[in-house]
Amino acid sequence: MTIAPELEDFTFRTWAGTCSRVPDRLYRPRNTEEVAAAITEAQQAEVRLRVTGLGRAWSEAACPAERGWSLSTARMNRVLEVDRTHHRIRVQAGIRIEDLALVLAQHGLALPNLPTSGEATLGGLFASGGHGLSPQHGGLGTTVRSVQVVDASARIRECSADDPEGRADLHSHFGALGALGIVTELSLAAVPAFGLEARTRRFPFEVGLSTLADAVSRFEYVRAMFWPYAPHLWRTTYERTTAPVRTGAPAGWIRTGLVGRDLRRLVAAWGTSFPEQLPRLASLAGRVGPLPPRCGARSDRLLLLPPEPIHRAMAYALPLEVLPEALSRLRAAIEGPRLPADAPVDVWFSPQESAPFAPAFGRATATIVVRASGALAGDVVFPAAHAALTPFAPRPHLGFLHAFDPSTLWPEALRTRVLEADPQHLFHNDFLERLLAA
Ligand SMILES: Cc1cc2nc3c(=O)[nH]c(=O)nc-3n(C[C@H](O)[C@H](O)[C@H](O)COP(=O)(O)OP(=O)(O)OC[C@H]3O[C@@H](n4cnc5c(N)ncnc54)[C@H](O)[C@@H]3O)c2cc1C
Repeated sequence: MTIAPELEDFTFRTWAGTCSRVPDRLYRPRNTEEVAAAITEAQQAEVRLRVTGLGRAWSEAACPAERGWSLSTARMNRVLEVDRTHHRIRVQAGIRIEDLALVLAQHGLALPNLPTSGEATLGGLFASGGHGLSPQHGGLGTTVRSVQVVDASARIRECSADDPEGRADLHSHFGALGALGIVTELSLAAVPAFGLEARTRRFPFEVGLSTLADAVSRFEYVRAMFWPYAPHLWRTTYERTTAPVRTGAPAGWIRTGLVGRDLRRLVAAWGTSFPEQLPRLASLAGRVGPLPPRCGARSDRLLLLPPEPIHRAMAYALPLEVLPEALSRLRAAIEGPRLPADAPVDVWFSPQESAPFAPAFGRATATIVVRASGALAGDVVFPAAHAALTPFAPRPHLGFLHAFDPSTLWPEALRTRVLEADPQHLFHNDFLERLLAA
């Protein structure tokens, strides 16, 4: 089989504009066979080929190599099979998370865990080690039960969690950034659809920190959030409910719209012109919670956040037990020198993962997400956050930004694995080369 590349001009650009590049060729296959055909052509032409989802990662992980080719999964977004009896769904890798959640809901099903953004592709989230707010349910590496992958020699393989060898193989693709192969189809274990009730409480910052360990041990989903300079920490805990869900609208809608989008936009715009006023603005913004005190909704409606304004973000995954001290240090590092922070800090949780490339590999994890809307904020807040969090043995989520020396992030065994799987460096780009440098 052959596949024609697209003739149109195309620039790959990440959502936040953190990377942009014109590949020499763009493929937009519709199925696995066309992916294999594109790989074969790249091999024969001795050109690098990088797979992209929707470019929602902030890092340069999806950026095509210089003079390389790009393969987009945008057209591979079909639902292939829904098995309501066994709660299984099989989809193509380019399906958006939001669309997957909707199809599942239409069949009375749901995913036990979701990332906060519904706008990434399933394949992209899986490849970047995606997870959500649950300290109990693993990320996509757990929910995904099998994947179909096309490797660097254009061989199509199925890795399934149902056999031990397949399970190890499946786990090695979770978080590997597509370095071991292009994921074309995924089967997921769903659960019966469920409703959630969210309770959001405001605590004095230090008190809020002291409640997190207990919340993580008791609740299925937990989120913490604060604005630098505000005296509070907001904590949302979610419980399943079978009662008809109280939506909290319009208060919930106003609140999420306000905090998720408009208030943040306003702070960022004002802070660009008057950075010295940011501490005061952030302190005021931090008085508005992310949700009303109590609200309920279908699981995907509550766990997926509304679209956020364009911003940059770094996400550092830390051992759960160091979270309170790490957050205190982070806050002090921003507020002490009165840095121009212009966006809230979020904390997500995940249980220990067994997938070796996953940010939560081998340890129960809290992921601290530091955001910046204006350029100035990122340039000064990110380095300060990196310095404050480094003593706590963080691992960066590689879909986000980070300030580590990349060559120190993947241990020798993982680097060897990638190099053995792709000796021609067919799937490499600059980002991967930096991770693989000895
Ligand atoms: C507002 C916002 C909120 C976010 N919230 C979360 C969150 O809650 N949890 C979380 O974990 N992340 C989150 N992210 C990060 C981001 O969504 C993920 O890193 C994800 O990778 C982006 O998916 P994508 O489809 O756009 O992939 P891309 O950005 O296009 O690609 C990401 C990586 O995956 C590889 N890749 C893409 N598709 C495939 C495939 N089919 N096979 C193999 N490799 C592939 C790419 O080569 C690249 O290395 C968020 C991002 C934004 C912008």
